[in-house]
Amino acid sequence: MPEKISPKGSMTNKERMKIPRQVMPEQDPSIRRNNFSEVNLGFTEELAKMEALRCIQCPKPTCVEGCPVGVKINEFIALVADGNFLGAAEKMKEDNLLPAICGRVCPQEEQCEIKCIVGKKNEPVAIGRLERFVADYERETVGIRVPGLKARTGKKVAIVGSGPAGLSCAGDLIQMGHDVTVFEALHELGGVLIYGIPEFRLPKSIVKAEIDSLKKLGVDFITNAVIGLTDTVDELMQNGYDAVFIAVGAGLPYFLNIPGENLNGVYSSNEFLTRVNLMKAYRFPEFDTPVFNCKEKCVAVFGGGNTAMDTVRISKRLGGQHANIIYRRSDVEMPARAEEIHHAKEEGIEFILLSNPLEFIGDEKGWLKSVKIQKMELGEPDSSGRRRPIPIPGSDYILPIDMAVISIGNGSNPIIQKTTPDLQYNKWGNILVDENTMKTSKKGVFAGGDIVTGGATVILAMGAGRKAAAAINEYLNNGNIQ
Ligand code: FAD
Repeated sequence: MPEKISPKGSMTNKERMKIPRQVMPEQDPSIRRNNFSEVNLGFTEELAKMEALRCIQCPKPTCVEGCPVGVKINEFIALVADGNFLGAAEKMKEDNLLPAICGRVCPQEEQCEIKCIVGKKNEPVAIGRLERFVADYERETVGIRVPGLKARTGKKVAIVGSGPAGLSCAGDLIQMGHDVTVFEALHELGGVLIYGIPEFRLPKSIVKAEIDSLKKLGVDFITNAVIGLTDTVDELMQNGYDAVFIAVGAGLPYFLNIPGENLNGVYSSNEFLTRVNLMKAYRFPEFDTPVFNCKEKCVAVFGGGNTAMDTVRISKRLGGQHANIIYRRSDVEMPARAEEIHHAKEEGIEFILLSNPLEFIGDEKGWLKSVKIQKMELGEPDSSGRRRPIPIPGSDYILPIDMAVISIGNGSNPIIQKTTPDLQYNKWGNILVDENTMKTSKKGVFAGGDIVTGGATVILAMGAGRKAAAAINEYLNNGNIQ
């Protein structure tokens, strides 16, 4: 292999297609299940260059169409293949100011990589891993460089919520010349990236570094500000903000609504994850917030999404002897990312599939001691396209457990709805918007991310933030939008 090969250079596509997808080093499962350090260790420079050489530089790069924020994937990968890693970082940041985050948690297998032409015959180019490599390389060598700003317009935008939707909107608007203030209810910035996704998948220092780059650009952040309780959306407008972007996520946990759900030892994933990730309960008593002591205990997590995988893998790391996923369909229908399911299995998580909880059973002191489970079988596909679970009569059995965590999804928090009734909502409390501009029914108010779609993904939330930023820019410059 020549040392420096231009992507347009001497290698034929046939030769590129022969290079196998490069494997990213990771912590050994027997070690990592006892620590909170990052599982994936990232590409080396050599692995990254070799992986980048697999890209055949399609004239019409379909991968770019698969990326909700439109990263120029082919162009940044060409720069990686040339060994110009800093140039690649700059190219990527033209469309995404949070690349180290996206490179770690985006479901690339369903977005850019599924569209990769190389993937039609071989494994697709590892776009997410290259994105992560490039972002880490820049941060670790020269530090995150920020792009230039347009002349200031004197217009002010308030962004409510500092998750990926709010952050990406803030990044675009500040570059367009507007003043941006982000209001965040919690004491830490980042939304689910901080309080939901655990350290071993997304180190908090990386989230903080990418948020710091927005601070460097001039975005103002105000924490401990619950919009609806401190100021309302109307009050923000009265206080001089010319536009408001609502990006408050979907933070209200759903419950199973079965008997015994109020027993001690039954958590929602939200509470469990917030205690562990945000309040550092895994370092109790060094940190003040306690969490159920899982050591040598049997834990059951109900659900099959990313949140359920994160929760069960944390409970294993906290010493759980048996850490189970209990899911009412089979593993084929699980919504979690394939990599997370694979990692969970490697770490010794037990999967109890086609099983549905009917009742939690407690002792005389109100502590959980078991759960009644009913077995299921799969019927015809339902409206989600997944095969419907059907109870098998007479299949109930009792499973002894010490802790249960309900992880079956989240709805919208009602605070904004209660205090801004003149916005339009659907029956689940999601804000209704024009899909092209993210504008709501209220003049000057836009919304995006999970509060509009219901629980989705980081990159979809970021895509909504970018779309809203473009529309807000037009609204501020021209007074109206189509
Ligand atoms: P959020 O990230 O929820 O941020 C909303 C912010 O608004 C929060 O900080 C909240 O405190 C704040 N807020 C709420 N109300 C107010 C108010 N009234 N005033 C001020 N601030 C307010 N997606 C992936 O793509 N890959 C993954 O691997 C993945 N794993 C996940 C794991 C877990 C445990 C969870 C819960 C979700 C996961 N997701 C994943 C989904 C993804 O994180 C979300 O879709 C995404 O974070 C939504 O972004 P958002 O900006 O809309 O909202």
